[in-house]
Parts: sequence; C-alpha cells; structure tokens
Amino acid sequence: MKQTILVTGGAGFIGSHLCEALLTAGHTVVCVDNLFCGSKKNIVTCLKNKNFTFIKHDVREPFVTKIKFTRIYNLACPASPVNYQKDPVATIETSFLGMHNMLKLAQKTGARVLQASTSEIYGDPLEHPQRETYWGNVNPIGIRACYDEGKRAAETLCFDYHREKKVEIRVVRIFNTYGPRMAVNDGRVVSNFIVQALRGAPITIYGAGDQTRSFQYVDDLVRGMMLFMEKARVTGPVNMGNPNEFTMKQLAEKVVKLTSSKSAITFRALPGDDPKRRKPDISVAKKMLGWEPKVMVDEGLVKTIAYFKKVV
Ligand code: NAD
Ligand code: UDP
Repeated sequence: MKQTILVTGGAGFIGSHLCEALLTAGHTVVCVDNLFCGSKKNIVTCLKNKNFTFIKHDVREPFVTKIKFTRIYNLACPASPVNYQKDPVATIETSFLGMHNMLKLAQKTGARVLQASTSEIYGDPLEHPQRETYWGNVNPIGIRACYDEGKRAAETLCFDYHREKKVEIRVVRIFNTYGPRMAVNDGRVVSNFIVQALRGAPITIYGAGDQTRSFQYVDDLVRGMMLFMEKARVTGPVNMGNPNEFTMKQLAEKVVKLTSSKSAITFRALPGDDPKRRKPDISVAKKMLGWEPKVMVDEGLVKTIAYFKKVV
C-alpha cells in the first residue's frame, strides 16, 4: 500500500538513503530537518522527485500540518559524538521533545512511528553480545549522556504512548552504521579513517585501538527499517547491526589496505566513557523479521571509499 510518510532527520546520512528507498517504493515522502548536521546536498536526487517535499523545521517545536501521515520515521538527532557533544542540551532536547512531538502527531493522524534508537542504550555494556533484554550500563552524567539518556527517554515515551494511548510504535536499536554520505567532518571512525587515508594524513586511533565495534552498511539498515515498519504487531525493541566485530586497530589496517594509503597510524587520547566492546545479537530481527545484513565490511568499505574519493 502506498503511504504518506514523514521522515525526520531526512537530510542526514541514514535519513537521505531512507527517503530515496521510500520514494523508489512509490511512497510520498515529506522530509523534515533543521540542517544542524545534515545537508540539502544529501537529498539532491530526492528533490527532483514530485513525491518528495523538504521542510526546514526543528523537531523540538511541534510540527503543525494538515497532512495525514500514515508512517513517521523519527531519525532527527545528531548521531556522531562530535556533533551531539557540540550542543548537549540541544541533543537531549531533540531526542526527547522531538520524539514527543512525533508521538503526538502520530496520535492525531493514526500514523505508525518508527524510532531510530541506538546501541548506545546499552552504554559501556557488561553483557556481550548485546541482546534487547539487556538494560545497559550508561553513565547518566557523563559526556555521552545527552545522547544515550535522550535516546533511552525517547524509548520510554514510545512505550508509554503505546500502552496508554495505543499509538503504534516500532523501536529499532541501530548499531554503528556507515556508508556514502556520512559527513566528512562528523568525527565518526569510518569516515575519519577513510578521509585521513585518502588525504595521506595520520590515521587517528583513540586509546590503544583494542576497543571493538560492529559495522553495518547503510543499505542493510534501510531495508531492515522498512521491513520492520510494515511488520504487523512487532513493537521491538529490535537490534539492527552487523555482528562482525572488529577492533579499531583492525579497522584502521583494513582502511589503509583498501585505499592503498601511505598514512601512518597514530594514537590519541581515548574520549571519556568510550564503550569498550559492542556487538549486536540479531536473533530477534532474524526470527521476527527474517532480516539479517548482507553486505560484509570489505564490500561496504569499498563502496564508501568510492564515495569519499569524490568528495574529499
Ligand atoms: P546524521 O547526523 O547524519 O543525521 C541526523 C539528522 O538529524 C541531520 O540531518 C540533522 O540535521 C538532523 N537534526 C538534528 N537535530 C535536529 C532537530 N532538532 N530538528 C530537525 N532535524 C534535526 O546521523 P545519522 O547517522 O544519519 O543518524 C540518523 C539517526 O539514526 C539518528 O537519530 C541517530 O541517533 C540514529 N543512529 C545512527 C547510528 C549510526 O551509526 N549512524 C547508530 C545508532 C543510531
Ligand atoms: N575512534 C577512533 N578514531 C577516530 C574516531 C573514533 O579510534 O578518529 C574510535 C572511538 O573512540 C570509538 C570508535 O572509534 O571507540 C567508534 O567511534 P564512533 O565515533 O564512530 O562511534 P561510537 O563511539 O558512537 O560507537
């Protein structure tokens, strides 16, 4: 069925890929973004489509509209530590107030809402790999808390709106996702390493580089989110990520090799509260949605490197 869909944060990295995929599926898409860390450059293709509208709007403010949305994907929120720590108050406000405004809109229009939650819900996890049943280990007053606690409170709001007001919700906990259109300067590890390697600049590993992450290619995530949104009666939370786990040292070596770079590897101070290990258990997504990632890291990195070669 063709839907009328609101995508908040649609001019960002993941949001722009999602808007494109929804348009390709024949839906009508309204993208709302305040361009805090997204860019209209990410949606140039979408803007040529008659079924696409961009509205510059801050989700911390109520979104007043006559459009009868049937689906809302809530992605608006700075996602990289560098961006979300630039204005921590705005970050936690965006997570909480943005979510609240979208849930109120959903209640009014009868729309189903998908929240882009995060593996940061688990903080510096004491359980490994992380299952959805794990409640997490978050420092509530640390430098990452504006993001982690904002996202945790947003999940709480989703479930309370669902229980109390019968709003249909979908909560996806996204693990580190990468791909074309990550911002050159947003400080995330995949974009940093690739940009540094392509420029022949030192590759900056924070700490000793033995912390781990599991990297998912953006196309896998977008396919998963769309599947989840349309799946009946599954609220989540559902983890989405690629369970292949790498140390940052291994990632740096991979990027140097795939770019044939002459960059040296250097070590910098580890930021506070940096999680030591992260790997999703995706058995719920497999069982409930029949979803698992298809793009392995070498293939995804090659595509991402090809993109960055054009923009740096
Ligand atoms: P991104 O920074 O590229 O995109 C976020 C978008 O939200 C940007 O376009 C930004 O301008 C917009 N935005 C920020 N504050 C806003 C506000 N107050 N009002 C309206 N728009 C606002 O990040 P991304 O990687 O595309 O992440 C998208 C979503 O997915 C985020 O909610 C993020 O928390 C979540 N997520 C991403 C990852 C990942 O690895 N990329 C992992 C977990 C969760
Ligand atoms: N990181 C790094 N060098 C960089 C950027 C990040 O070693 O130039 C590390 C960072 O300390 C963290 C991991 O890479 O341990 C992933 O960082 P990112 O900001 O991409 O995501 P998150 O910490 O939110 O998972």
